[in-house]
Formats: sequence, structure tokens, C-alpha cells
Amino acid sequence: MNFAIMYHYVREPETWKGSVPISPQAFEEQIDRIGRTHEFVGPDELNKKTTKPKCILTFDDATKDQYEIAFDIMKRKGVTGYFTVMSGPLVDKNVPVFHLVHAALSKVNEDTIWENLRNILTPKQLLNLKSSEDIYSYEQSILRRYIKYTLNFILDTQESKSFLEDIVFTEFGSKQKFIDFMYINVEEFKRMKQAGMTLGVHGAQHSPFNGEADEYYNNEILPCANFMKEKLDIKPVWYTPPFGGGENKMVMLDKLKENLLSAGYKGAFTTLSGAIEDTNSFWLNRFDCNKLFV
Ligand SMILES: [Zn+2]
Repeated sequence: MNFAIMYHYVREPETWKGSVPISPQAFEEQIDRIGRTHEFVGPDELNKKTTKPKCILTFDDATKDQYEIAFDIMKRKGVTGYFTVMSGPLVDKNVPVFHLVHAALSKVNEDTIWENLRNILTPKQLLNLKSSEDIYSYEQSILRRYIKYTLNFILDTQESKSFLEDIVFTEFGSKQKFIDFMYINVEEFKRMKQAGMTLGVHGAQHSPFNGEADEYYNNEILPCANFMKEKLDIKPVWYTPPFGGGENKMVMLDKLKENLLSAGYKGAFTTLSGAIEDTNSFWLNRFDCNKLFV
């Protein structure tokens, strides 16, 4: 059976508490195990003749750990993979809110964050916090539930962003220092390209698909593709939508495909869980690395 695996952070879970990373050791073991039964290929080789079934390692969000840890392990083992580029933080110095949340929760203790956050809430907003118990029941810590709920559901994007930028950029010294710490840079992407890794588009600002295919293509996909052309001399032909398309996933699978096909894209990776039944399908399913069946 051919399949793709979806990775985000590859780093020690104790050092990064924003979302669930896979540890470097678990990553390495996963590669060794799958390598016994499958051949690792890039997306362009899905239809290549191989004796074993194929596996594609895919990486979202272009965070630094993917270069420093995952790429390093893969290089050592002679394993190829598919990494995506997010141009916004490098070009516009704009950090998506979800990454600011991960960084704040990893680097600043919960009590401090919550202490600052509750001060800006009204008594009515504080009462709404009860709903956080349902949505974030998977979070063990009550404070983490409150923090995530407040940032994602009570405050608007701009309010959350300025609150988070303030604590994160202060923690790291400056916005540029945080970006340098957090993201793969142009020189590093060049080394990955040189080593034979496939690079594709994840987006400019990591905005979820808004239902308007043309507008979304022009604002999110094209700027990232142009950045890759200009800085890395790559014309991308593979795409991975942020949040797997989010709430508008089904519309995206239907509408955005036309824009991508006419721009020369060969395929795209979803967050829908499953094997790759048809290697000629445009949208390709992936298994989450933390919920792998093998
Ligand atoms: Zn993403």
C-alpha cells in the first residue's frame, strides 16, 4: 500500500509545548521501521516502478526543527521527502497566530500568560470561559484551555496577535530573532533542494481557504510560488493547503483544484487520513505521524 505521512514539529515534546511534536528518536525509528517494507520517494516519483510500495514523508509549516532535525536524519539515512515553504514570515515578517500561540505556550509559563490575558477580558467574557472545557477537553491544564479559548474564540485576530507578539517577541528579544529561530531560511532551503528534497507551496500567511478560489490562489499561493521562483529558482508543482483547507475543505477540494491545475501543479496533500489508493489522484491523503498504523 502506498501512503504519505504528515509531519509538523520534529523535536523533543518537552521543549515544545504548543502542539504535539514527534521526538527525533521516534521519527528515526518510524523511518527505520517503514523503510523495511516501503521505498521512500518524492511526490514526483509516485508512479515510478519500485519493488516495494512507496511512502512519502511530508512536512508542513517550514519550521526550523524540520531543517535541523528531520532533514539531518533523512540526509544521514539517504531518505528523500517533501517539504513546504511558507513565505509570509520571511518576506513580510508576518508570523501566523497559531505559531505565536505555540511559541508562547512553550517559552512562557501558563500562569504568566493567563495573568496578562485575564486582565484584558471583561467580566462577561470571563463567564464565557466555561465553554473552553468542551472544545479543549484534550488539554490537561485548565489554564491552557482558558488561554487557547481566549486567543481563538474571545479575542479577535488582531487582538490575539498583538497580545501574543508582545510576549513572544519580548521573550526572544525581537521579531527578527523569533523568525530566525522559528523558520527555515532561504540558505537552508537551498541546501535542502541541493540534497534532493522536493519543495512545495504551503502558502504566504497560512490563511485557511476562504471559499474564493481565485482570490485565495492570488493572495496565498501565488506569492509563495513567486518567492520560491525568485529566491530558490524552483517552479513549485506540489501544494499543501494550510489547515487542510479548514472549514471550507470540501469547497477547496472541488474549486481550488482548477486554479492549481492551470498553474501547472501536479497534485496536493490533504489532511484527510488514508492511504494513497490512486497515485494519479490530484488530492493525496496522508496519515498523521502521531496516529500511524505501522
Ligand atoms: Zn500548516
